[in-house]
Amino acid sequence: MEELLERLLEECRPATGQGRVADYIPELAKGNPEALGVYVIGSEGKHSWAGDCRQKFTIQSVVKPILLLQALLDNGPDLVQKRVGVEATGKPFDAINAGERALDSGHINPMVNMGAIVMCTLIRGGSYEERFQRLLGLTRQLAGDNEIGVDEAVYQSEKSHGSKNRALAYLLKSNGLLEDSVEEVLDCYFRACSIQVDCRALAHIGAVLSNRGRLPVSNERVFPAPLARYVNAILMTCGMYDGSGEFAIRVGVPAKSGVAGGIMAVVPTRMGIGIYAPALDQKGNSLGGIQLLEQLSKALYLSIF
Ligand code: GLU
Repeated sequence: MEELLERLLEECRPATGQGRVADYIPELAKGNPEALGVYVIGSEGKHSWAGDCRQKFTIQSVVKPILLLQALLDNGPDLVQKRVGVEATGKPFDAINAGERALDSGHINPMVNMGAIVMCTLIRGGSYEERFQRLLGLTRQLAGDNEIGVDEAVYQSEKSHGSKNRALAYLLKSNGLLEDSVEEVLDCYFRACSIQVDCRALAHIGAVLSNRGRLPVSNERVFPAPLARYVNAILMTCGMYDGSGEFAIRVGVPAKSGVAGGIMAVVPTRMGIGIYAPALDQKGNSLGGIQLLEQLSKALYLSIF
C-alpha cells in the first residue's frame, strides 16, 4: 500500500500546480499550493501514508458531517430532517438559496453553509460555548486525537471576513429557520471550521464512518449504525459541493472536502482516507486530492457503483 501511495502521489503532484489556494479567508492564502499528502486507515486498523500527511490545516467544511452527526445524536433523524433537508442543491457551498419561493428547510442540506449553520443550533448545550465544546469532543473522539484544537488565527480571519456567512444566517433568520442570536451561532460555526486537523485525523474520521460508527481496532461504538448510513448517503450526494455528481463518477465513494484543501473519504466497510492538497479547482475542491483519490479508487476498485 505505501508503495502505491508514493507512486500515485508523484503522479498527481503536477495537478496541484493547476489549482489555486483559497484566499477569501485571508489566513487560508498562506497554504502551500504544492503540498500533497494522503493517509489511509483500513478496517483492520492498518495505517499507510505518503507525502505531507502530518501537515496541520483547518478542517473547514469537513466539519459539516460531524456537525450533522452531533445534531443527529442530540435530536434523532426525524427532527433534524424537518429543520434541514437532504436534497443536493446543485449550487456552490455559500449560495444564497432563495429564489422566487420563500426559503424553506427542503432547499438546503447539511453540507452547504446554510444547513451547517442551522446544525449549530441543533447541538444541545446551555450556551454556544458548551455546544462547541461538545462538538470538539466528538471531533477528537472520531479523529482518535485528544490534542485537536482550534487554529486561532484562522478563526479570527473567518470571523472578520464572514460577511457572506452573516448574510446567509440573517436570511435563515428572516425566513424563520434560525431562532438564536446570529453572532452566537456564527461564532460556533466559525470555530467549528477552524478546528485544526491533519490527514491522519481525517482518515480516522472516515474509518469510523466506514465502520458504521465503531472505532477502528477497539471496535468501540461512537454512534449507532443507522446514523452512519444517514451521514454517508448525504456525503455521497452533496459532500463535494456542486461537483458531487462528477466526483461520484470519477471516485465513487462518500466524501467531504474543505476549502483549506482537506478531503475525508469513506470507503464503506473497507477504509477511511484523509487527503491534504490546498490548491483548489473552481468549485472549491482540492484538485490534486481528487486526482489522487480517482487513481486510488481505480487501483483498489473502491467505487461503490
Ligand atoms: N469556513 C468556510 C466558509 O464558511 C468553509 C467553506 C468550505 O470549506 O466549504 O466559507
